[in-house]
Amino acid sequence: MKKDPTNGRTCYCGHRRGDPAIHEEPEYSMWGWIVLSMFGVTPRPHHIAFRCAYCREELGQSRDPRLLARRTTPRAA
Ligand SMILES: [Zn+2]
Repeated sequence: MKKDPTNGRTCYCGHRRGDPAIHEEPEYSMWGWIVLSMFGVTPRPHHIAFRCAYCREELGQSRDPRLLARRTTPRAA
């Protein structure tokens, strides 16, 4: 795979956003953690962090409402 430094950062081990190795991890605010621990419901994340599953480097964050909503939606059984 060609590396193009102008098209987004790559992490320490060479992955970039859109790669399966880069996970979208919801990050919660303080209040979000309280809701999560006390009520057992999934709060709306404060933002989504794009983080490599291997080296844990964060490649960026998104506050895209569509991404946040996707993380808030309860899992279908
Ligand atoms: Zn990596």
